[in-house]
Amino acid sequence: MSSGTSSPPDETAADPETSETALETARRQLEHAAAELDLDPNVVERLRHPTRVQRVSVPLRRDDGSVEVLTGYRAQHDDARGPFKGGLRFHPHVSEEECVGLAMWMTWKTAVMDLPLGGAKGGIVVNPKTLSPTERERLTRRFAEELRDIVGPNTDIPAPDMGTDPQTMAWFMDAYSVQQGETTPGVVTGKPPEIGGSYGREAAPGRSVAIIVREACRYYDKPMDDLSVAIQGFGSVGANAARLLDSWGADVVAVSDVNGAVHDPSGLPVDEIPSHDEEPEAVTENAETVIANDELLELDVDVLAPCAIGNVITGQNAGAVRADLVVEGANGPVTFAADSILEQRGVPVIPDILANAGGVTVSYFEWLQDINRRKWSRERVNEELENEMVTAWNAVREEYDERDVSWRTAAYILALSRVAKAHELRGLWP
Ligand code: GLU
Repeated sequence: MSSGTSSPPDETAADPETSETALETARRQLEHAAAELDLDPNVVERLRHPTRVQRVSVPLRRDDGSVEVLTGYRAQHDDARGPFKGGLRFHPHVSEEECVGLAMWMTWKTAVMDLPLGGAKGGIVVNPKTLSPTERERLTRRFAEELRDIVGPNTDIPAPDMGTDPQTMAWFMDAYSVQQGETTPGVVTGKPPEIGGSYGREAAPGRSVAIIVREACRYYDKPMDDLSVAIQGFGSVGANAARLLDSWGADVVAVSDVNGAVHDPSGLPVDEIPSHDEEPEAVTENAETVIANDELLELDVDVLAPCAIGNVITGQNAGAVRADLVVEGANGPVTFAADSILEQRGVPVIPDILANAGGVTVSYFEWLQDINRRKWSRERVNEELENEMVTAWNAVREEYDERDVSWRTAAYILALSRVAKAHELRGLWP
């Protein structure tokens, strides 16, 4: 292969609504929530924009010796409440706009959880399936070097996201530490536990989805042992949520991966189905009947948890969703248009910034363990996560009960009022 830049993602197939950028969605959601609050418009204006976006070229030496120059980003949205925080993704659809939108969501996510952190997101425009393990390592190390000036344990702390994992974070931490001349575990979270990672971090986003499903079902008087759940995506979020809900007595009736979904109205043996981390793309391998991913979204179930990618419930299919409740495990799976259709139809949507916030919450625990040089047991992590999730759920529920708004807007109101208060107290320099 000759040297050159990576080709841009093919978006020609996307319809106009699903191609609404994460930034457009995030700004619309911000304005929607700000309208409910008596906020200083100057603060809202500041929050519409990122603090900084770093664009870098990342040269990658392929195994065949050729050099390809890939594009990477780090968008830092807001750090009024603490250091920037958020994942790094390796995905062909990564773009500047997407990173900024996702960084805004991280600001609200850390604020909903009341963590002393801000919001950021980054990534490289690359299809991770095309990378060998050695290429992936070289790419990660070089990306860490290109971002070294703007990340750090007190400034901006990356984490795993789509297409990245604990091993990626281990390489990132090593590259940063070697250049700094000291081992700095607190520069990233989501590392393997052997090198400063936290027990329970990988399972945490799925665990928080399950906890929020449980709390929401309690709120709507739906008993767990009678609950039918459909889960899109069987990666770390979907598989962990499915297995926990199953162990609490719910019937997980459908799960899926990119190849399709398996469905059994009497409940699936979710422990026996390999998650993406255990064996990639194997969900439908031994299944007798396979249904399409789109059909999973339209099953008549109590709870639908889209835990795979963004923009899967759109203006086109929101009318066909038959679940009584939607809980967002992925970031941004329900578009702005779909959100209003579901609201009109009386289908509550519990938003990503609350439901999958277990990931960043245990990232915060990991960072505390790193800077204090003191490891927590898995039991302590899970117990503290349970407390943080229930506290955040109760705070969002209070907003929801007090105002005539959706769950998403209630969560945004809580987050935005905390971030706006931090800006008001700190003021504008100079
Ligand atoms: N990428 C995850 C998210 O979207 C985790 C971020 C973090 O742990 O910093 O919430």
